[in-house]
Order: sequence, then structure tokens, then C-alpha cells
Amino acid sequence: MSDLSINPNPLLALDEGPPAFDRIRPEHVQPAVEQLLKDTTTGLEQIELSLENPAAATWSNTIGSLEALGQRWERIWSPVSHLMGVKNSDALREAHEAVLADVVALGLRMRQSRPIYDALAHIRQDETLWSQLDETQQRIVSKRIQDAELAGIALPASEQERFNKISERLSQLSTEFSNHVLDATRDWELVLDHPDDVEGLPSSLTLLAAQSFNNQEEDQSADPESGPWRFTLDGPSAMPFLQHCRVPHLREKLYRAFVTRASDGELDNSPLINEILELRRERANLLGFDTFAEMSVATKMASVTDVESMFDLLRQASWDAGQADLADLQELARASGQDQPLCHWDLAFWAERLREQRFDLTDEQLRPYFPLERVLDGLFDLAGRLFGITVEPADGQAPTWHEDVRFFRVLAESGEPAAFFYLDPYSRPEDKRGGAWMDECLSRRIVAGQLQLPVAHLVCNGTPPVGDRPSLMTFREVETLFHEFGHGLQHMLTTVDHADASGINGVEWDAVELPSQFMENWCYHRETLMGIARHFETKEPLPETLFENLRRARNYRAGSLMLRQLNFGMLDMYLHHQYDPAGDETVLDAQQRIAASTSPLEPLPENRFLCGFQHIFAGGYAAGYYSYKWAELLSADAFSAFEEVGLDNEEAVATTGRRFRDTVLASGGGRHPMDVFRDFRGREPGTDALLRHTGLA
Ligand code: ZN
Repeated sequence: MSDLSINPNPLLALDEGPPAFDRIRPEHVQPAVEQLLKDTTTGLEQIELSLENPAAATWSNTIGSLEALGQRWERIWSPVSHLMGVKNSDALREAHEAVLADVVALGLRMRQSRPIYDALAHIRQDETLWSQLDETQQRIVSKRIQDAELAGIALPASEQERFNKISERLSQLSTEFSNHVLDATRDWELVLDHPDDVEGLPSSLTLLAAQSFNNQEEDQSADPESGPWRFTLDGPSAMPFLQHCRVPHLREKLYRAFVTRASDGELDNSPLINEILELRRERANLLGFDTFAEMSVATKMASVTDVESMFDLLRQASWDAGQADLADLQELARASGQDQPLCHWDLAFWAERLREQRFDLTDEQLRPYFPLERVLDGLFDLAGRLFGITVEPADGQAPTWHEDVRFFRVLAESGEPAAFFYLDPYSRPEDKRGGAWMDECLSRRIVAGQLQLPVAHLVCNGTPPVGDRPSLMTFREVETLFHEFGHGLQHMLTTVDHADASGINGVEWDAVELPSQFMENWCYHRETLMGIARHFETKEPLPETLFENLRRARNYRAGSLMLRQLNFGMLDMYLHHQYDPAGDETVLDAQQRIAASTSPLEPLPENRFLCGFQHIFAGGYAAGYYSYKWAELLSADAFSAFEEVGLDNEEAVATTGRRFRDTVLASGGGRHPMDVFRDFRGREPGTDALLRHTGLA
């Protein structure tokens, strides 16, 4: 403690400028967060007290005060969460764990404050007060009200009790559901000890399988060359096994186990599914919605009708292509000596063989053409052409958590600074989470009368430079960088000054992937990509054939992949909208019926994959699985605005880019995403561009 009095806690010390990432230590977390919790509780009580009479409510004593409280969370809690991802340690994890429960509880308490809810409801009902707010402010108030109502705040006492019971039971059920899947996955194994059985499997898989055997057995005698090998239903084991195992009956064994996971005996999830669906509907009904799907989309961009008509159009458009894909596989199998008609466990295997035959394209072939520095230059150059911004290095102007982390400044078209971002480019398995993400560091907002510019975190996991060899990226990593930068642009180029709605805040869940996926499209634009791709040693441009292969590989089996996603999405929507748990049709009947309409190969009657569908029964995707397709549809349609004016027509691209900047990127959560899309596109989104881009038009 004496140490802290000499060196003030950096989490508490700063009120402006970037966080002191170089000085924050695990021992700072607990005292700072405890202070934060205390101050927030006091602040919240003061707000609630001042709102005892809801008629005294104004913007500034409700949202205004809440924004001020939120700003302290941004200064104290958000750096901690960030460091958990990029500079993890046992000490930090412990400190985080020690305060987490209180943080979550206080967050809930703020969302469900009755005095604040009443005050906001008063503001919305009072015509004078309401008319004094601009569109963004009205949206912020409405969303806070809706958020509280969806948590049951407005229900009469008797219904509230039932509502809470349902919520509790639902959270139990989803935990049980996922435990069953976990247990069923753990309980199944396929141990092979004959080298013939593993012929053709990639070495990464045989290594994993030998390790898995050793982890399971006492004698630990397995090695990747001579076995034994243990395969499981875990994705990293099961998927490559189905793609590469040459022995059909072994593929069948694993496949059957996979699609019947958690579907019988003690681990059977089907009764849980029924109860979950029933309770979800009852909860939605209590809140005044006809179905759970209606409730789910109430906080999203698309309506149930939008989703259903998207599914319809996409399904019709991909059906023939899916059939043709199947015929291709059948033909290749026959030519390779398999005369039997293909079964479900053969598809992934032959699809991989066909891919190898059609595109001999490996990550390692492409890597030398994508040194990180060049990719960044190309990306920033593109952002300049599209949005008129300038990105310039500002290393050293903000403290970082690691020496490899870069810092950049973004200048608006006027030349004024508009935003900043950190880029943490390389993988560090010892203390950094895998994958790639964009996160907020600071949001655009007014702090003490001054505009605070947004600061973003872009985190990737690329290969670090080795010796004088620069960091070389796979094409997938290039796409990912463009993707995260797209999220970053929406955070950084917002023109909204209220933290509740600036940048990605307050953007509907099914609309947040629009800017990110939009940016990915440019990786397939010849001028953009060829401008970037240059061999790091020979300086040769990317060979034309490789670029063509990349482009064609993008749409490989597009029809089949589309149908597969539609199967999941349609089933999810049907179960949460039309399905009647008390009716004659069982959930597994529904699964079969929908599979039949989306599967070129007749569905396997024993398939009960629904019992392992964690996305919708144990994750956040209930009546929301469609959002994967919806995001693709939006980004393809947005990109097609550029295609329409001509991707190589610099002036027209610049004009369209500025319009994208001033609508999608600028509005953030300040306007309903359907309105924002209409602002940009002049109409509602449609499926044409997505179908054209995927070769299904
Ligand atoms: Zn994303």
C-alpha cells in the first residue's frame, strides 16, 4: 500500500489521454475497481434520489449522469478487460476474478433501476421534454427503456415472480444443455492402432490424436508415427478426420456419433429443448410478444419477415448449385473408384479432394507476397481513397503494453485529428488470447465540456518477424486485418457525441458486422490487392494465376455452404416462431423436414444434430442464427454500391466512399440501422449482390 501512495494507481490517476498501459500492474486492479464500484454505487444512489419524483427527470439528470458514471468505467474497467486479452498472467486473472462478480452485479442493478426507468418513461411521455431531444437522444432513451423492460422491470408483481422463475430455469437449462454436449463429447472416442487406418491424415491431426491418446492412457506410449491414435468429437479432431480419413466405415462411425451427440440416455437433450422452447415463448408472451422470435428481433435490425424472405430467396437461388456440387463430388468419387452413391460421411472427404484438385493454393505460397508493412500501407491507402482519411504512425505518443504494439493517428479529411488506434499485430501465446478482434479503448464523448476523440484497439495474431524476414501474412490474415479495421472505422469515424450511441455502441447486434465484412470485399478487388501483394524478396507482383485461384476459391461450393447455413438458420427461426411445443410435430420432425428442404442429399433419418446445437440452446444465437447471413447480405449490398459506379472509377468511388463514411460509419448507434442503410443505399437491403458475389445469381 505504501508503494501506491508514492506511485499513484495509474488506473485511478488519469482522467484524460490514453491509459497508462505501461504502468498498470495486476496489483492496481483490485483497489481501483473497488473504488470504482463504491463511487458508482454512490453515484447511482444520488441519481436515483434526484429522480424520486419522475416528473423532475431531464436528459441531464438521467442519461447525462449515467454517461458520466460510464466514463469512469471506461477509464478503469476497460483497460483491465483489455489487458486480460493481451497481457494475461495468473496475477491479473486472480485480480480480475476477485472483482468480476461485483462488477456484473452492479451492471445489472444499473440496468434494472426502477427510479431511472420511471424517469426515462416520463421523458418519453412528456411531449415537451421528448421534443427537445434529437433523434439520437430519443433512441438512447428508448433503448434504455426497452433494455429494462426486456429484463422484466415493468411487469406487475405476480408476473414478475413468474418471469424471474422462468429466467432462472432457462439459465439452468442452458447450462445443462451444454454440459450434456460436453459430457457426450468427452465420453466418445475412436482409438485406431493400425497405420493403414490413418493413412492420408495430415500430420497435425495424427500428432493431436497421439497426444490425445497419451493424455487419456497411463502408459503414454503413443507417437504420431506408429499410434495408437485417439480421435474425438471435438471440432479440431472430428472435422479434419472427416475431411481426410480414407476409410469410409471409420468416417461413418465418427459422423454418426457426431450427429447424435447428447441425444439419448442420461445425456439426452431433447426434453431440455422442449422445455427451453416452451419457457422462451412464455417469457416472450409475458413481455407482450407473440413469439420468442418477435422478442429477439425487437432489438435487432431485421424483422422476422425480412429474415424469412431472405431465407426463401437464398434457398431458391442455391438449390441447383447445391445439387451440382453434389454431382461434382459423386463424379470425382466414381472416377476415383468409389462406385457406391455418396453418403453424408463422404461429403467432407470428397469436397477436400476436389478442392485439392481444383485449387492448389496453400497459405505458404501466398505468405511471401503479404508482408505486414505493405498490407498496412495498402489498407491505409484504401481508407484514404474511400473515406478521405489519413492514417499516420504516432508511435511513442501513447504508452503501450508491449514493445511490438504500434500506435496510429487518424486525420479527418480536413486534416484535423479524428481518432487514434493501437495495433497489436503478432501472436504471443504466453500472454495473449488467440484470434483477432477490435475493441474500444476510449469512445467519442464529451468529457468535462471537451470532445474526447475515440481510440480503438486492433488486435491480430500474425507471425512475428524472424531475423531480417518481416512478418508475412496468410491471405486469411489479410482479410481478418481488413475486417477488424472495418469495425475500427465505425468506432473511430463516428460523429455521435453520446457514448451510448457513438461508434459501435448501440448498433443492433445483426448490423455490427456490416462495416467489417464490407472492408473484406476489397481484398478481392484486383487493383487493391495487386497494389499490396509484392514478394518481400524479389519484389515481384502476385502472379495472375494465384490471384485468379484466390478469387475462384472464394466461391468454392458456395451453394452447398449456403444451404447448410440456411438449414441452421431456418430451423432456429421456425422453432422460435411457428413451432408449437404442445403440438403433434416433435422438434426432431421439424429438423428432418427443414433439412429435407435444404439438403441436396436426403437427410439421414437418425440425424439428431439439434441436440448438440449449442448456438441456439446454450449460446446467444436463439432466433439470431440468421445474422451470419444477414451480415453478408448487408455488406455485399453495400459493396455493390461501389461496383455500380465502377470500382476503378476513382472519383465515383471516392464520392460513394464519402457517403458510406457519412452514413454507416458516422451514425453508429444513433439511428436505426435500417434507416442508416437506406441513407447510404437509397433503398432497403436485398439479396442480389450476395448471390452475384457468391456466383449463385
Ligand atoms: Zn467482426
